[in-house]
Amino acid sequence: MTDPTTIRLPADLLPGDGRFGSGPSKVRPDALAALAAHGRAYMGTSHRRDGVRSVVRRVREGLATLFGLPDGYEVLLGNGGSTAFWDALAFGMVEARSAHLVIGEFSAKFAAVTRGAPFLADPLVVEHPPGTVGALAADPSVDCYALVHNETSTGAMTEIVRPGPGIVAVDATSAAGGLRVDPAEFDVYYFAPQKAFAGDGGLWLACCSPAAVERIERVAASGRWVPPSLDLAIALENSRLDQTYNTPALATIFLLADTVEWMLDQGGLEWAAGRCDRSAGILYGWAEARDFAMPFVTDPTARSHVNATIDFEGVDGEALCTALRANGIVDVEPYRKLGRNQLRIALFPAIEPDDVATLTRALDHLVDALR
Ligand SMILES: *Cc1c(COP(=O)(O)O)cnc(C)c1O
Repeated sequence: MTDPTTIRLPADLLPGDGRFGSGPSKVRPDALAALAAHGRAYMGTSHRRDGVRSVVRRVREGLATLFGLPDGYEVLLGNGGSTAFWDALAFGMVEARSAHLVIGEFSAKFAAVTRGAPFLADPLVVEHPPGTVGALAADPSVDCYALVHNETSTGAMTEIVRPGPGIVAVDATSAAGGLRVDPAEFDVYYFAPQKAFAGDGGLWLACCSPAAVERIERVAASGRWVPPSLDLAIALENSRLDQTYNTPALATIFLLADTVEWMLDQGGLEWAAGRCDRSAGILYGWAEARDFAMPFVTDPTARSHVNATIDFEGVDGEALCTALRANGIVDVEPYRKLGRNQLRIALFPAIEPDDVATLTRALDHLVDALR
């Protein structure tokens, strides 16, 4: 076999930007330039003063506009990313029992958190095979339904619909900002900035309905011990002041504000989702037309428009990744634990649909060279 590191792609097969990772994902060069331009006045200043708090306010207000949040919904934020937020949900949102739709690694991780929490009943877990979706049904013993809008490990997207009465908490870590959602269908829509928002990690954000805010207050009043850094009541109090409980990464907040406003300037969530639709059409259309490639998710309506998984046959996916990486095209390796001969390609709004098209031509070239 040709050594994949020796293949040089011709210049016209190189995308303008080679970052196709599903998270951390491509950060917009304009956002990085804005950070460099404003960094002297912003970085290294107090997160309790207006210089930073005004940027947090832009994030909170911008997200409320982007998602069309109804009156009474609030944007909360805190440190630790979506993984820490799972712990915060177990401590401060689930009253007695949660239900989980498990369709991959990320949704399984949250289910494992509530299963381990000694103060909660065993969760109701509905599991479907990787690459498929499914839904939760109402259950009277459940007070919090955990859904995932996009299962990043498998590249499967779901439609967000309330399963029943109770809090609906949606892991939208890789979906938020790239997929359409109706706020009436969720109580908590949470995410981190390093995926569709083209930012950096370490922060969690949560769009919370009045019912979610009421639940936070009720659980906090119940006397359950909660570590302060994971206490949603403390996060609520600080978020209302455009702060976090402890020091956040200021660059993360800056990059997020920049991209939220970029999305709003371009036409909002509909524009961003439309751009992802376009990239998805290019990539899945290409895979379906090739005898060596096939979308991993068989149901076309469940194929993610924010990160696509493509199975390969007759050519080694790892060699493809190596050859791409040698040409500056990075992070299209599949999710490790899935163990498939696959590429996983992000289609987030910051990624140019034209670059996705160029990537498909680069893949054609490399497959020719490698098989
Ligand atoms: C990336 C991801 C997470 C974890 O996010 P962190 O910010 O790294 O904790 C959780 N859920 C989904 C669906 C993700 O894609």
